[in-house]
Amino acid sequence: MTQRYTVFGNPVAHSKSPQIHQLFAAQESASIEYTRTFADNTPQAFAAAVRTFFDGGGSGANVTLPFKQFAFELADEHSERALAAGAVNTLIPLENGRLRGDNTDGIGLVRDLGENIGISVKDKNILIIGAGGAARGVILPLLAGSPAGITVCNRTAQTAEILAQQFAIQAQTFEQLNRPYDIIINATSGSLNDDVPPVPPIVFSGCLLAYDMFYADQATTFMRFAAEHGAARTADGLGMLVGQAAESYRLWRGFTPEIAPVVSTMRGGQNT
Ligand code: NDP
Repeated sequence: MTQRYTVFGNPVAHSKSPQIHQLFAAQESASIEYTRTFADNTPQAFAAAVRTFFDGGGSGANVTLPFKQFAFELADEHSERALAAGAVNTLIPLENGRLRGDNTDGIGLVRDLGENIGISVKDKNILIIGAGGAARGVILPLLAGSPAGITVCNRTAQTAEILAQQFAIQAQTFEQLNRPYDIIINATSGSLNDDVPPVPPIVFSGCLLAYDMFYADQATTFMRFAAEHGAARTADGLGMLVGQAAESYRLWRGFTPEIAPVVSTMRGGQNT
């Protein structure tokens, strides 16, 4: 029987997850169904949609904005990385209708850095700009790669302080940033509106990689700003999106898809 998967979101019509997961299925010559499911933005509506899907035999689900916290609260058990992130982007059905919540965003970023971009985080000084769900989710997987240090900087300084205490990393305000970093990750949602966070240009001097978690058809404003001020390479978050999807797929099906060919296909315009 064809196994069924879905992504819950609001909005969700734009989601690239169905195409990505079909490309993964092709790698293992499997036939799967992967749909998009819209739900109203309340915990009750989200929970009802999730129950309907799994009661109907669904084999796994992804969760995107704005439901990652709702999914965290709904899950009956959590992976360590979901607990660290306080957010769930992957639901896995267990016995007796129970659900396990995981968070694959961080490993998605780490796989993109290592397998696509070819940059190791080991011994690197990393600056993370932003302290929302995505930033929170990537810190533990980045720390596992033994960087020299991680600094987090956020518009609301207090949120960065909370992350710094939770993960024993540094927090700085934009005004305090005064030195270069090897890898700079924009984990703000500013790129949606072409907003570049107010980081001083010095941070990009000698920077090996400036990474924007946001993705678009062209380089984001943040990527262009970083390149103008010295970043040797820039990348957007499409590879992270494919990487997080690959880890979800592995959790559901026990097959680890290759991400590089899928990123390449998606960049080739076959994703619209
Ligand atoms: P959240 O809403 O949880 O957090 C948003 C963060 O951005 C907060 O730190 C917020 O600061 C900051 N922010 C928002 N607007 C601005 C601005 N104009 N200037 C400076 N800082 C700003 O979002 P997420 O963490 O879930 O997502 C962040 C980004 O990561 C989004 O662009 C999202 O699309 C992307 N993402 C990409 C993924 C991928 O697979 N490629 C996966 C997950 C996320 P404050 O605390 O002050 O409000």
